Amino acid sequence: MLKTVGMTDDATLLAAARADAAWVVDLRRRLHRRPEVGLHLPQTQAIVLEALADLPVEVTTGTSTSSVVGVLRGARSGPTYLLRGDMDALPLQEDTGLDFASEIPGAMHACGHDTHVAMLLGAARLLAERREEIAGQVVLMVQPGEEGHHGARYMLDEGLLDAVPGAPVSGAFAIHISTAFPTGTVNVRPGPLMAAADHFRITLQGAGGHASTPHVTADPVPVAAEIVLALQAMVTRRVDVFDPAVVTVGHIAAGTTNNIIPATAFLEGTIRTLSAQRRADVVARVQRVAEKVAEAHDLTAVFERVEGYPVTVNDAVVAGQVEARAAALLGTEAAVPMPDPLMGAEDFSYVLERVPGAMAFLGACPPDLEPGSSPGNHSNLVVFDEDALPAGTALYARMALAALSG
Ligand SMILES: [Zn+2]
Repeated sequence: MLKTVGMTDDATLLAAARADAAWVVDLRRRLHRRPEVGLHLPQTQAIVLEALADLPVEVTTGTSTSSVVGVLRGARSGPTYLLRGDMDALPLQEDTGLDFASEIPGAMHACGHDTHVAMLLGAARLLAERREEIAGQVVLMVQPGEEGHHGARYMLDEGLLDAVPGAPVSGAFAIHISTAFPTGTVNVRPGPLMAAADHFRITLQGAGGHASTPHVTADPVPVAAEIVLALQAMVTRRVDVFDPAVVTVGHIAAGTTNNIIPATAFLEGTIRTLSAQRRADVVARVQRVAEKVAEAHDLTAVFERVEGYPVTVNDAVVAGQVEARAAALLGTEAAVPMPDPLMGAEDFSYVLERVPGAMAFLGACPPDLEPGSSPGNHSNLVVFDEDALPAGTALYARMALAALSG
């Protein structure tokens, strides 16, 4: 008869995460000093591999990127559960003045991905000590290129979900740190958590000439202005407010001087949506507005869409589990339902399209600042409160232990 081992209780698990806090903070600060941007992060990958070397984790590295996949096997067989931490930084000069600030000019861990890696590997240590409690496998997904480089998609294409032959990943969980929430709180919601983000470009082709004779030209400047306004009218008149969209034109370029009508104009912007249907609908409408407004004025518009991340959709059951487990682990006041999604985007969405799972935001606003008005993620001044890290470490571990309890 198999002996079943009781699961580590919440107080013990949190105490273990707190006891390991110095290790997690040290790893986080080492990553913070040496930020790397994009899909190829050799120094970051080396630090991750070194941190995993002492653990009973089978490690493989990506072929197309610097990704790392670790597999930790429990004492008994069972399903496979994925925990994700992203590890890339942003192309931004750090101005925090922290004594472990970035030593790489023009690169900064301004979205806290250094904390994600540290918490994930901290959780791997907690899980490695509890393998006898685990029926199944934990896949550690350490990904590069979350900041717009589709790092998760490369890992999926390389077989991430089949990292354990015969036991494909059947559930997934990720944490994102944020100064928008009080330290140590876990903020989660069922359904859409973050938006789909698509980048669009519109090139207007007209006919240039003398500024004094617009009627013999095809002036793209007023047409560009009309397209900007028509896009905003489209959003308010054609989009259901309960399945919303944001369209922002962030860049317009045309012309060279005061007395020339230019031949072309260029506009680009972003489309944010919270459902696949709305996404397809609004992308098509932006194209149509651009083409038809241009046509009305004897110009042509070339529309180009650069596909960004899909909507990040939390499984409703898993989101409920995250909230309940965070409440049990950290106290009921620490588990906070999010009323609304955020209109930022996240490539964990690719994983959540394939397996039921959830992402939660871990609050890390420094105690002397106000959540929401302190420098936020992607700011050159953002400081994440490291006191939040044990909560995240313990929650990662709890999600895996609960999913693989046999
Ligand atoms: Zn991020």
